[in-house]
Amino acid sequence: MRVLVAEDEPRLTLQLERALAAAGYAVDTAYDGDRAHQLGEAEDYDAVVLDLGLPRLDGVSVLRRWRAAGRTMPVLVLTARDGWSEKVAGLDAGADDYVTKPFNTEELLARLRALIRRAAGQADPVVRVGAVVLDPRGATVTRDGEAVPLTAHEYRVLAYLMLHKGKVVSRAELTEHVYTQDFDRDSNTLEVFVGRLRRKLGAGLIETVRGLGYRVPEA
Ligand code: CA
Repeated sequence: MRVLVAEDEPRLTLQLERALAAAGYAVDTAYDGDRAHQLGEAEDYDAVVLDLGLPRLDGVSVLRRWRAAGRTMPVLVLTARDGWSEKVAGLDAGADDYVTKPFNTEELLARLRALIRRAAGQADPVVRVGAVVLDPRGATVTRDGEAVPLTAHEYRVLAYLMLHKGKVVSRAELTEHVYTQDFDRDSNTLEVFVGRLRRKLGAGLIETVRGLGYRVPEA
């Protein structure tokens, strides 16, 4: 799972970056609207946290441009306190949800989880496949009820595949959703993560679909 944080206040950005990383996300940051717009057009995010008061290009304009260009990722906007007209403008520009500043980080994380699972067509907050249960609320994974420790990269690979269970996910797509923008991507490392996940969680959990990618079975 990969998230873009577009916010010009450095302290708040750092706070969000840390909380999101601790919750298992790969996080990219943008400090102005131009950069946010550029990243949201070029990269595939599972969700975006977009401050509406951004320098260079305001958040509502960024969002309108993304939606006009057919970008469908879930977007949660950050609005100023008491700014009901900002909320309306954000939602009408294509935002999926909002939080008002100052906000509680736990609430923002819960709203993001809801947006991401809805975008993937999941209603249940936990994802189950056979004996394996993935719980995004604590970024935890169990097998037959026993906790299975995973590294951050292993968790992200598994979370993306499980959230899109039943679908074939190409290596390119998986790469987009696992690494941050400035990470040195080596296509071989995905195979290493998948190999480790199979050892930890059972060989049948992640199928290789020859020439196409990977698939986690529906149930
Ligand atoms: Ca701002």
